[in-house]
Amino acid sequence: MHYTGTIWRPPYEAESLLIEVTAGCTHHRCKFCTLYNDLPFKFKMSPMEDIECDLQEVKRAVKGLRGRRIDRVFLTGANPFVLSYDKLVAIAELIQKYLPSVRSIGSFARITDITSKSDGELAKLRALGYDGLTIGIETGDDEALQFMNKGYTSADIIEQCQRLDAADIHYNFFYLVSISGAGRGEIGARLTADICNQIHPTLIGANMLTIYPDSELYEEIQRGNWREEGELEKYKEIRTLIENLQIPTIFAAMGASNAYQFHGQLPKDRKKLLSFLDKIIENVSEEELQQYRKSVYHL
Ligand code: SF4
Repeated sequence: MHYTGTIWRPPYEAESLLIEVTAGCTHHRCKFCTLYNDLPFKFKMSPMEDIECDLQEVKRAVKGLRGRRIDRVFLTGANPFVLSYDKLVAIAELIQKYLPSVRSIGSFARITDITSKSDGELAKLRALGYDGLTIGIETGDDEALQFMNKGYTSADIIEQCQRLDAADIHYNFFYLVSISGAGRGEIGARLTADICNQIHPTLIGANMLTIYPDSELYEEIQRGNWREEGELEKYKEIRTLIENLQIPTIFAAMGASNAYQFHGQLPKDRKKLLSFLDKIIENVSEEELQQYRKSVYHL
């Protein structure tokens, strides 16, 4: 199999077959992000021969495992959905050729990757199996989106996700706790709830900002241009987000950046989640949580 650098996938794609179709990120400018710093290039698409060769290898391996079916493929790289419609079609056709049991194809996507597809193309991609995209929107706070160089606005998130809704392509969000900076966490949480309430994310996954010295954000902090939230403030921010979400969705904080992992279905589990967070806010000290943050050497 061809895999390049660290391979990232959402926790809920643990059962999916990971196929590398891209490596790196076309944007590579978000100030907090160090995810693809281990690559010697910014972005590349895998040659179609490599993708086909990997699918052939998986087909041979699956033959040896009687009864094992592969239902879902997750395309790796920061934003494979940036690939042209024609390339995404060609990849879906290859997957069907070698692994006809596959029912859906997911990947990470940037909001700007959706913009470049027409409504008709999105509908055809859905028919070919593209579904369950994971989008790191991070926040609905325009001030934070701009400062961190995310490359889109909250209005873009709403517009492009409404297009996914129309094409019946489901999507999950990553929310980055603390992206709004010290003193603005709860403002960012409310702004994020406002945009999420206008669209239909299947899941909102919270990750807590963990700042590494090789990030541009670290330099901004050294220059005195930005201040990070305290750890307890991060829990208050998540609390505010959960409190203000009015849509049915799954809320999950499952990655390594979360000292306490939890998930639940909204609105059904709202009370349970809020009381879990209240217990942390009341009983766990800032120092303990900071200790955990320092121990997160790698996401
Ligand atoms: S956060 Fe996502 S879009 Fe931004 S640079 Fe990192 S991988 Fe690329």
